[in-house]
Amino acid sequence: MEPLLKGPIPAERAATCDRCAMLPSGDAPVDRSEFFSASTKCCTYLPELANFLVGRVLTDDDLEAAAGRATVEARIDKKVGVSPLGLHRTPVYSLMYRSSPASFGRAVSMRCPHYVVDGGRCGVWRHRESTCATWFCKYGRGETGRAFWQRLHDTLGACEGAVRLHCLMELGLDVRSLAALHPTQAVANASARPGNLGAPDLDGEFVPAAYRAAWGAWEGREREFFSSCAEIANALDWPEVLALGGARLEVLVALLLDAYKKLVGDEVPARVRRRRLNVVYASPESVQVVGYSPMDALRVPKELVDVLHCFDGRPTAAALAGISEVHGLDVEPGVVRKLVDFGILSAEED
Ligand code: SF4
Ligand code: SF4
Repeated sequence: MEPLLKGPIPAERAATCDRCAMLPSGDAPVDRSEFFSASTKCCTYLPELANFLVGRVLTDDDLEAAAGRATVEARIDKKVGVSPLGLHRTPVYSLMYRSSPASFGRAVSMRCPHYVVDGGRCGVWRHRESTCATWFCKYGRGETGRAFWQRLHDTLGACEGAVRLHCLMELGLDVRSLAALHPTQAVANASARPGNLGAPDLDGEFVPAAYRAAWGAWEGREREFFSSCAEIANALDWPEVLALGGARLEVLVALLLDAYKKLVGDEVPARVRRRRLNVVYASPESVQVVGYSPMDALRVPKELVDVLHCFDGRPTAAALAGISEVHGLDVEPGVVRKLVDFGILSAEED
């Protein structure tokens, strides 16, 4: 992203992954539904690893990468959800993931196979895919940060999609394999219908005929194929990736650049209005308010909560002057920006 954004991406320091911010602190009894499990953190997710990312994991001979590499080898050996496009989420996993949002961050049975339990870290971190590279439980700029990372996710996902197809063509995958990987829309729609899981899907087994159709002449040389994809992808520069992504990627890049400008900008909206407060905890000094995300409540001093009603859509400068005059409280414009970022105030359209 460096040549594209022409500036650094601010680090997300509130998501303290080494000491996960979503785990309860101390031994006091807590409502488990508000926290993640120490056995999973947020890695209750099965990533789709594009072919060139699989190849990068396989060819990463750093000792520290060995544990993660073994998990990718195991997925390849199993042949379930393994195609020249990469490693896929299995239908059963997708079904469970969609049906149980409350288990996110909590269900050990949903834990990513690349999660290294000893040390609680990602085994494929250097080569992780777009979702894993852009998801945080908390964002320094709240909703503005989340919007930026979502745009980055979309852009990286489109790049991954374009580059993995490019790899297929560069490696001369034959047309029967291409057809197996890209069935006609009617067939794709039929197989995507609910209730269409077969016994092999449920039992976590691969289907030899389908596997053979997808791999064609490359069957038995899957590792060589993935490593070659990594070589092809590693040689690409940004203008080449952009060209591969076509008009769709151009649109996503335009949206990303706009989100980046907002992320690193310090503009304060000209008019703001108080939103309905969702208070989850109150003490005599402060209240904890959930705005843009239940995972990222904001602690707001009580004296600030008491003047929020002054943000009623009038110009922000007038509201701040009124608060100072009537309530004797000087509120910095940066505080207004933070309250907007965290969904406590909303920006009014002019
Ligand atoms: S992003 Fe995930 S690992 Fe990092 S602090 Fe948040 S929940 Fe924990
Ligand atoms: S690939 Fe890494 S970051 Fe992504 S879910 Fe798995 S362990 Fe977590």
